[in-house]
Amino acid sequence: SRPVRISVQLHPYGDGRTLLLSRDVTALEQAEAMRRDFVANVSHEIRTPLTVLMGFVETLQTLPLAQDERARYLGMMSQQAARMQSVVQDLLTLSRLEGSPPPGMAEWTPVQGLVQRCEEESRALSALLAQTQQRPHTLLFPGKAELLAQGDIAGVPAELQSALSNIINNAVRYTPAGGTITVSWVRKDDGSATFSVQDTGPGIAPEHIPRLTERFYRVDRSRSRETGGTGLGLAIVKHVLQRHGATLNIQSTLGKGSTFCVTFPVNRLRAPAPQALAA
Ligand code: ADP
Repeated sequence: SRPVRISVQLHPYGDGRTLLLSRDVTALEQAEAMRRDFVANVSHEIRTPLTVLMGFVETLQTLPLAQDERARYLGMMSQQAARMQSVVQDLLTLSRLEGSPPPGMAEWTPVQGLVQRCEEESRALSALLAQTQQRPHTLLFPGKAELLAQGDIAGVPAELQSALSNIINNAVRYTPAGGTITVSWVRKDDGSATFSVQDTGPGIAPEHIPRLTERFYRVDRSRSRETGGTGLGLAIVKHVLQRHGATLNIQSTLGKGSTFCVTFPVNRLRAPAPQALAA
């Protein structure tokens, strides 16, 4: 049981009687506390790279550095600037999602193209990690014909793709060298469909799972920063899925890996056009 906060105001009438107004402000105070936390988090996320950046600027201004040393500093400065840019971009995405009405049923996204673009993006990320961090992975995706038969989802293609890519990219980013990421798309008997991403990464302790979609929540701050995360990815994923009537389910075992499942309800799905299958 949570404490309840009541605000009480007394208004004397002047004739000996007093009006007492009481209001339950629990929700109001909670919202205010969340807003304060959010502002503090944003400031922190921007201030940290900014402080580093300022340090480099000062060094460049005061120390006579050799050409290659200057280039190295400029490289690190650009990394910090890119980090701030990602945070700002993700914040704008979140605010845009919150401010716009949920997508209707007018736009359809083919499952095949959607998964294909996710595959291209995650293979590019995986290749980069293999090259820069000696961290190769095996990525397994469902077959083309299998996906073609899955039809379309009612929703905004760019939003759906960013949400699903985000989940796969997390799997790639958090899974150590030699790990496997398996993506699948399964139609259930009740007509709903589940997109799942399974990894052989570090896994997530049960107490963290319900909080993963909170803004800036990270299980391991330093590891998330290392992997270039803003801490906003899953908050964006949650918003996009909610807008599309889809749900996110996370199963994980420490030391074994995690599975992120996104389920789309039957009313958001339609069968492929017969000519698409015949082609
Ligand atoms: P970040 O930018 O930090 O990755 P996200 O919102 O995408 O932010 O994810 C929140 C946190 O969830 C991450 O910091 C990480 O601790 C955890 N996480 C997400 N996906 C995975 C995964 N596949 N395996 C292990 N941990 C994960």
